[in-house]
Amino acid sequence: MSVFIGMPGDFPANSAKAVQDSQLRFNLRKATHTIRGKRASVVGELPDWAQLRAAGKAIKDHTLRHLDRYLVQMEEAVEKAGGRVHWARDADEANRIVTDLVKQTGESEVVKVKSMATQEIGLNEHLAAQGITAYETDLAELIVQLGDDFPSHILVPAIHRNRSEIREIFLAKMGDAPADLTDEPAALAEAARLHLRERFLRSKVAISGANFMIAETGTCVVLESEGNGRMCLTLPETLISVVGIEKLLPTWRDLEVFLQLLPRSSTGERMNPYTSTWTGATEGQTFHLVLLDNGRTNVLADEVGRQALRCIRCSACLNVCPVYERAGGHAYGSVYPGPIGAILTPQLRGLGSDLDASLPYASTLCGACFEACPVAIDIPEVLVDLRAKVAHPRAERAGMRAAGWVLAKEVRLAKAQRLASRFRKLVPKRLPGPLSAWTDTRDLPEIPKESFREWWARNERA
Ligand code: SF4
Repeated sequence: MSVFIGMPGDFPANSAKAVQDSQLRFNLRKATHTIRGKRASVVGELPDWAQLRAAGKAIKDHTLRHLDRYLVQMEEAVEKAGGRVHWARDADEANRIVTDLVKQTGESEVVKVKSMATQEIGLNEHLAAQGITAYETDLAELIVQLGDDFPSHILVPAIHRNRSEIREIFLAKMGDAPADLTDEPAALAEAARLHLRERFLRSKVAISGANFMIAETGTCVVLESEGNGRMCLTLPETLISVVGIEKLLPTWRDLEVFLQLLPRSSTGERMNPYTSTWTGATEGQTFHLVLLDNGRTNVLADEVGRQALRCIRCSACLNVCPVYERAGGHAYGSVYPGPIGAILTPQLRGLGSDLDASLPYASTLCGACFEACPVAIDIPEVLVDLRAKVAHPRAERAGMRAAGWVLAKEVRLAKAQRLASRFRKLVPKRLPGPLSAWTDTRDLPEIPKESFREWWARNERA
């Protein structure tokens, strides 16, 4: 996953900078509290919310347990319906597949539906390096793209911008914005609509993600609010969808649960305005589905961390997080900010960098994220588990595993003790490399000539 360029610091450094920005804090507080209030009221309307939440969790857990089977089912169904399925192990492979597919059409422009997966792999940057221009068509993504900015929220990527800042960006970068553009929401939306309309009609290739995939029929599903996604999905001659492998649901019946959970948790609506579904190729349009792993199978292997793959990217956890509200999305240094970012990014990217190792600490562990999550991801539990992994580096973990193996059987321990006594003269006083940090402040214990066991055996016989 690409790290935001210009964000090399760790979370404490990034967030310390962000909290100095009072305009940013004001924008974030206003936006998150508005969405939070709307969510609370529509969730409160449903007497069976707790059961829906439990059903969402159970469906996702079941799917993840049998992911191999459902992925193959999805592939077969898509191909049967005339689509082509491509498997991408990582970001490089996914970018290469998409770029080749666009090049095969002979086009040098694509329109895009808002998609976290393509941001995760840095697709726009990769396409640009290959001479292909990608136009974001979601309003908030357009604001981010025109402003040469980074997204800072899963659902509202330009949440850190207010109306007058958006007006300035449109006037400076859009090229065709009216000179008398005001900062009224309707005027800004109209300027964006006119700007995008021409691109929809001109583009022959579209790139999307998907909120869900339905294995039984090979159907992809996109939920959105503006209708721009619908235009991208239907007008161009070629549609390429890049979708994380965890987005699968076994059946249409399962979708019913998520069509209730997602809109209420994300935009605070009972139902989202546009739900688009498509199965394979349609008349006049070729379809390619790129199934993206990019670290997901590693996450799946982790007993505690795998619950992060249940995430439906609703952003409810961001909107209730006191840390996100003050630090803002950029401080997390990835496309996944907030509580879900703090557990997903370090699992997908690993804990190798200062930034990724600092993310599990970007939380007060207050638990508000867990309460708000529509698929009951216990984010604090995963955060604590990741903190333990950060605190115990790899060499120490390997040492503990080896010690556990030796201590598990008496005969192994006796052999290890005999070996240690025999070679005790060779044991250095100071450990080499990074392990020296341990011996710098401690003396290694002397290894005795014989172990207590050997002494006991000798004296018992005597
Ligand atoms: S972790 Fe839960 S609350 Fe946060 S974005 Fe994912 S599904 Fe939504």
